[in-house]
Amino acid sequence: MSNDAVRLRSVTRRYDSGGTSVTALDQVSLAFPRGTFTAVMGPSGSGKSTLLQCAAGLDRPTSGSVTVGDTELTGLSETRLTLLRRERIGFVFQAFNLLPALTAEQNVALPLRLAGRRPKKGRVREVLQQVGLGDRARHRPTEMSGGQQQRVALARALITCPDVLFADEPTGALDSGTGREVLTLLRGMVDRDGQTITMVTHDPIAASYADRVVFLVDGRVNGELIRASAEDIAARMARLEAVPC
Ligand code: ADP
Repeated sequence: MSNDAVRLRSVTRRYDSGGTSVTALDQVSLAFPRGTFTAVMGPSGSGKSTLLQCAAGLDRPTSGSVTVGDTELTGLSETRLTLLRRERIGFVFQAFNLLPALTAEQNVALPLRLAGRRPKKGRVREVLQQVGLGDRARHRPTEMSGGQQQRVALARALITCPDVLFADEPTGALDSGTGREVLTLLRGMVDRDGQTITMVTHDPIAASYADRVVFLVDGRVNGELIRASAEDIAARMARLEAVPC
């Protein structure tokens, strides 16, 4: 079995519209090893979202290949791709995207129900406990704080035991204290459970929770930092964002 949860090889994604062509990703080769936490950073428009979408099988590269575990995504039908995402990939976004009419435990069980699987007894509670919400199972999203809602979203992403969890600005809608709680949870999932996490963020403090920060500029990988402090990450970002005179 591959040691990488996800691997991109020479991935290029071009958008063509009205005679103009934008290269959002330009020959990106990158691996996300199992049990590691990677942050992806870069100036606005550098290709972060496109990278996440291609790596997660939500978008198809123009050329190059993406492998999740030992499965090559190129050439998979839409149906197979949908099944793979449902069973092997977890997502959390800035907006929590919970269904307001459902309780926390019903929201968490939803991915299994959509897949036609009945949640094992106790499994939903177990995952809610993992994110510190064992006592909120019957609450609806409107009865919870933003941080609690994001933790429900995390539990929902983990219910299928995904190969990889993709997080797109997961703390973007939270105050800094609550954001840190969510980041501490993510870090714990990597350290304790060997979860693989890839997170897009513009926040150096959030990125400092990762093992590795990969920087993108103009759709290309522009270096990385390992186990870096928020200060070092911020300094690197400031250099990348500096407009040359
Ligand atoms: P980031 O997430 O770093 O802000 P994106 O991946 O969203 O960057 O975008 C990278 C580049 O691709 C930008 O120039 C953006 O305008 C372009 N782009 C992204 N999505 C589309 C699209 N659907 N159609 C056309 N251009 C796009």
